[in-house]
Amino acid sequence: MNEVKNIPFFNYQSLFLSDETNYIDIIKDIGSRGAYIMQSDLANFEQSMAAYTGSNYAVGVANATDGLQMVLMAGGIKAGDEVIFCSHTMVATASAIHFTGATPVPVDAGQDLLIDPDAIEPAITQKTRAIVVTQLNGRTANMDKIQVIANKYNLDIYEDAAQALGSKFHGKCAGTFGVGACISFYPAKILGCLGDGGLILCQDESIYKKLLLLRDHGRCAESGDVLTWGFNSRLDNLQAAILNHNFKNYDDVIKRRREIASIYHRELSGMEQLRLPPPPDYSENAEHFDVFQNYEIQAESRDDLRSYLSDNGIGTLIQWGGKAVHQFKSLGFTQELPKTELLFKRILMLPMNMTLSDEDVIYVCNIIREFYV
Ligand SMILES: *Cc1c(COP(=O)(O)O)cnc(C)c1O
Repeated sequence: MNEVKNIPFFNYQSLFLSDETNYIDIIKDIGSRGAYIMQSDLANFEQSMAAYTGSNYAVGVANATDGLQMVLMAGGIKAGDEVIFCSHTMVATASAIHFTGATPVPVDAGQDLLIDPDAIEPAITQKTRAIVVTQLNGRTANMDKIQVIANKYNLDIYEDAAQALGSKFHGKCAGTFGVGACISFYPAKILGCLGDGGLILCQDESIYKKLLLLRDHGRCAESGDVLTWGFNSRLDNLQAAILNHNFKNYDDVIKRRREIASIYHRELSGMEQLRLPPPPDYSENAEHFDVFQNYEIQAESRDDLRSYLSDNGIGTLIQWGGKAVHQFKSLGFTQELPKTELLFKRILMLPMNMTLSDEDVIYVCNIIREFYV
């Protein structure tokens, strides 16, 4: 018998405790400067995010969901429009569309768990204005295929890149393919802060200027004059300071996540009961550079496997509480997406975080093998 280990899916305490001294110093610094809202730490963070992603502009906001809604609004999405998105995403993608007044139209995910480009065209109508691509699990979709469809029907592309900071397709960062995108700094995200936080990336100056107004009550920063209806959705300067600190070792974080994914792949590949995500591609001009926000597999007898892992001290998660967005019937969706519904009987996320040792990952894999024997 193996010794039973305790491997939580995500360790929220450790996020703080592993770096406690530095966090306390940051809080003291911000407090003693009285620098809470829209201060230099935020401006610095926005600059480094724009530079890191190769985006023209970055705007810190209260959370990614607000960010997506505001960038859709800035791009002109409004009542009467339809916006296509993949049903394997957080409800936030759809609610951001909903609150612009537009209708969110869910489509199927493919076997890579991202939006199925072949599912987009059949969902297009006269009213379709845009596609929101969720760059799920830290992997960027095949944006070439999606761009071809967008061009053909004159649709705008937006990205829910909440899970994908630093992920690339053909060397180009998630969040930079369309009009704009959101990124999340929720604590369990790859770059997490100690609370809620988000960012918008955009390329066009006119969109950027609208976003600056939208996130701050419609107020012009220079004159203080109110120029439009807006929200209160600013990224706290304290969270920005924490993010500046956490971003310093972001390359190492991604490197470690890719290592963990490689171990999972090495230990689990060849098992017919499982379908694994593609392993990290280490080649110079990789088509996909994945950052592994999550390690989401498809598994036979998923629920039994999950209990077996739990009995052995291993925390797992089924994304979105086990339902694709169109399955939340209380939101008014009438679509049926059998392919995605089938996926949701099989998907499971294995632990993927910075507290895992190589031995932990191998332990998880051994328990999975044991289950299927
Ligand atoms: C986390 C997440 C969001 C929401 O991010 P918040 O910052 O919590 O608003 C949206 N979409 C996806 C795909 C996410 O994973």
